[in-house]
Amino acid sequence: MRFKEAGAFLNIDLGALVFNWEGMRRYISPSSRCGAVVKSDAYGLGAEKISSALYRAGCRDFFVAYLSEGIALRRVIGDSGRIFVLHGFFSGTEREFTRYKLIPVLNTIEQIEGWLLYTQKVGHRFPVALHFDTGMSRLSFSRQDQEFLFGEGQDKLKLLEVVLVMSHLANGDIQGDKKNEEQLNLFRDIRDKVSKILGYSPEYSLSATAGIFLGKEYLFDLCRPGLGLYGIYPYIGLEDKILLRPVVSLYAKIIQLQRAHIGQSVGYGSSYSFTREGIIATVCLGYADGFLRSLGNKGYGSICGKQVPVIGRISMDLTTFDVTEVPSKDLYIGQEVEIIGPHNTIDFLANSGGTIPYELFTNIGDRYYRRYKNEEKLFSVDRK
Ligand SMILES: *Cc1c(COP(=O)(O)O)cnc(C)c1O
Repeated sequence: MRFKEAGAFLNIDLGALVFNWEGMRRYISPSSRCGAVVKSDAYGLGAEKISSALYRAGCRDFFVAYLSEGIALRRVIGDSGRIFVLHGFFSGTEREFTRYKLIPVLNTIEQIEGWLLYTQKVGHRFPVALHFDTGMSRLSFSRQDQEFLFGEGQDKLKLLEVVLVMSHLANGDIQGDKKNEEQLNLFRDIRDKVSKILGYSPEYSLSATAGIFLGKEYLFDLCRPGLGLYGIYPYIGLEDKILLRPVVSLYAKIIQLQRAHIGQSVGYGSSYSFTREGIIATVCLGYADGFLRSLGNKGYGSICGKQVPVIGRISMDLTTFDVTEVPSKDLYIGQEVEIIGPHNTIDFLANSGGTIPYELFTNIGDRYYRRYKNEEKLFSVDRK
């Protein structure tokens, strides 16, 4: 998408990204190191630019979900730096993991057995991570798996070259929740058992963004923030502990303005009708761009600081706003409506649409013209 044909602009401030990573890195040091979760195209913001900026800032531990994301990332960051693939591997892809120096996160007994089959065939051990369940009941070694691995399956563990052992908090964003402490204690127990069986101590990792701020005991060797890097607080109140700068703003152009008379309805299903005279602005973004359909008659934009409500349903490529209250000097074709920005935060938008910032971000379409800010500044101070 070229600038002159674009209907909407996604601004991504790489300076703010690095500021946030640095802030968290300092917060957890020296006891723990700060990695970066860049799965799902770095939460929709562009894994290549995001990872490259973080690498240059000093980040050396990256987490992606899929093999393909890992391969793309390896091309970006070069030979050094560790890339963990959270889903582990699917049978038949083992060779690509070793070829691109990707570390599979093994989550099931089948993955362990498959990996051992492969490494024994090629006669070489390669580094792996192990993911244990402590309360998510999602992808990771279940209770039964753990009984097996700490019992009769011990020998399998011993055959692996384990570099990282991890778990994931279910309620990290709820401070004081009993479950966090439960998971912490289970993870400590796992740590002791694994280290004893292996006869060496791999690194341990428990916390994503929210967990980092639960207390020092949650940090272990490596943290795995995603959301915080992108400038979003996982819960209200965290502002007191760390300053995160917003990374993303989104603006969409007005493509048409029209007067509305009393009783005039707007959009599919005529779900909105004017009860007074007004002005409708049609704007270049829709649910195909990730502007969720649930924001119909609920979301807001902002023009020169003046809040404007979404009226009618969201279409695939277009959205209509009531701009009656905006001074006429600020109303013209091509005017950019702030969709996410200083007057309209992503939290507010997500709330209005009944969702969370994660979902809004990862739905960001690829029809936006992307403007990466502060790239030159970062890359001129290349620190190895
Ligand atoms: C996505 C994810 C993270 C990052 O979580 P944030 O809340 O975005 O910081 C960390 N660890 C695992 C296992 C994840 O799936």
